[in-house]
Amino acid sequence: MLELSNVHVNYNGSAALRGVNLSIPAGKLVAVIGPNGAGKTTLLRTISGLVGRAEGSVCLDGEDLSTLEPDGIVRRGVVQVPEGRMVLSRMSVHDNIMLGAYIRPRGREVRRDFDSMLELFPRLRERLSQQAGALSGGEQQMLAIARGLMGRPRLLMLDEPSLGLAPLVVETIFQVLLEIKRKSITVLLVEQNAEKALAVADQGYVLDLGVIAAEGMASDLLGDEQVRRAYLGL
Ligand code: ATP
Repeated sequence: MLELSNVHVNYNGSAALRGVNLSIPAGKLVAVIGPNGAGKTTLLRTISGLVGRAEGSVCLDGEDLSTLEPDGIVRRGVVQVPEGRMVLSRMSVHDNIMLGAYIRPRGREVRRDFDSMLELFPRLRERLSQQAGALSGGEQQMLAIARGLMGRPRLLMLDEPSLGLAPLVVETIFQVLLEIKRKSITVLLVEQNAEKALAVADQGYVLDLGVIAAEGMASDLLGDEQVRRAYLGL
């Protein structure tokens, strides 16, 4: 569905991505793991059109996204849930969820999706009228994912959804990822929590210093001695 070929990105002359090739098949969950500064966020921002690339192509079902503005890329169904959630803290939980549907005509389908978000995230149901800023970190992450899903994404990209959360909440977030996977939504997951990410993913990539250092079936990467030692700290 999404294909990156030889993607290079520089910040003021220093390379953040150096010839990245990556492909995401429809309906699969693909995890990108790697240490701090590897270029994981840059990768997502490049796909979203928020960062320009020096070389290479990003194609969605064969269409090169390079001529599109970020808004046009969202309208093609590519939705990013950013690191740090970025919920609108002074707006209500309800309005934050609905914000995700801004590209869709209001009507029965949107209402149905809204209801299914409350089924997926029962915690949000109890807090619909509260300001988003009053939620815990885990609840804000759930809200950010719900907002992303309200856009009916063809590709949902998640940047470090477990970052800074307590272990029990991290478990909940990964359970939600499994639910999303069951719905056959295509997901690109960026995580520092490499072992957990590979445990839920179909396929995985290891990004290190802007280069793909390893790739394969997630279960194979989890079992790879070198990957375990260098990137999983095992
Ligand atoms: P982290 O897990 O710490 O967020 P990451 O794998 O997401 O790391 P990036 O944030 O993509 O990595 O950063 C890749 C490299 O690009 C790093 O060396 C970083 O310092 C640099 N970088 C990122 N954003 C910018 C920017 N806006 N201007 C200059 N350099 C940047």
